[in-house]
Amino acid sequence: MADRKVEGLWDCKYCQCKGIGGLTKECPQCGHPQDADTKFYMPGTVRYLDEETAARYGKGEDWTCSYCDTLNRYNETHCKGCGASRSESSGSYTDNQRRRMDPRQNAAQTRQETRQPVSNAQPEPARGGGKKLGIVFGVIIAVIVIAMIAIFAPRDAATKVEAKSWYRSIDVEAYVTVEESGWSVPYGGRTTYTTEEVRYYEEVLDHYEDVQVQRSRRVQDGYDTQIEYVDNGDGTFSEVEHQIPRYTTEYYYEWESEPVYVSVPVYDTYYYYDIDKWLPDRTEEASGTDDTPYWPSLNLASNEREGDRSESYSVTFVTEKSKRYAAYIPENLWNTLSIGQGAEITVSGGKVTQINDVVLSR
Ligand SMILES: [Zn+2]
Ligand SMILES: [Zn+2]
Repeated sequence: MADRKVEGLWDCKYCQCKGIGGLTKECPQCGHPQDADTKFYMPGTVRYLDEETAARYGKGEDWTCSYCDTLNRYNETHCKGCGASRSESSGSYTDNQRRRMDPRQNAAQTRQETRQPVSNAQPEPARGGGKKLGIVFGVIIAVIVIAMIAIFAPRDAATKVEAKSWYRSIDVEAYVTVEESGWSVPYGGRTTYTTEEVRYYEEVLDHYEDVQVQRSRRVQDGYDTQIEYVDNGDGTFSEVEHQIPRYTTEYYYEWESEPVYVSVPVYDTYYYYDIDKWLPDRTEEASGTDDTPYWPSLNLASNEREGDRSESYSVTFVTEKSKRYAAYIPENLWNTLSIGQGAEITVSGGKVTQINDVVLSR
């Protein structure tokens, strides 16, 4: 079994003759000998050399004559091509392969690079139908834009003040006692009663429990035989067997102690209390359609006070074509307008934006 050998093959670079037996040192077609460019490779079908032949190979690599490039057997002292001494050797078969490797690898890489863009290129989608759709869309958008401009473009109008109105209000707050509750009593609160209630739960270790846990480990359960053919550099390959450990995953169970927790309620004092607070009570209002707004009068009880005030002033304009526009405006501007008087207004998007050169803030 040990030391099985296989005859390699080589290609002649001068006449395209391929698959020549490695032990045939000269090309059978053109007669050129194996040289520094010769690379042995394994045949498709492995056929072992007979024992006698095998014994003569795998003892040393061929060497290259530096004068004529011919490959010579390891034990030859002179080149069989030109007779030069082995001391003039330019290197072994392996040295030749190493020299050839680098340019080869580069060539392989550039080939891959040029191939990539081709595979990445995607077919361009047909464009004809999309173009028509684009034009239709463009027209629709243009129509919408024109309509928007027509609606929202500011328009000036000569009008008359048709009506005015005003509204004023004052919130009234009352100081009242309210019932509230919580985990503490704020300043001013008067406790009426308390209870003990669950405020939160605490996780407390109760006991330990034994549980089965599945685990796994890698176990070697034999070897796989891997066969490799090593280039002897003399036209033959040696068969080398490697024993590769093979692994499987084994499952097993282990007992483990796991903590078990219980929820334990934690009690605390919960307070119910009375507290005095200012709260909204009512809103006093006044309104009118005249020119003299006033604040509503307040009749405050001893536990009441005045809160927020609010006010609004509106005016309605009418055009010659009986179109009406109403607007809420500041009091000082409202005061300058009187019913029946003419007014220049600007309307934008259906809203009054300017009155007699005064621009309204939005
Ligand atoms: Zn040849
Ligand atoms: Zn030679």
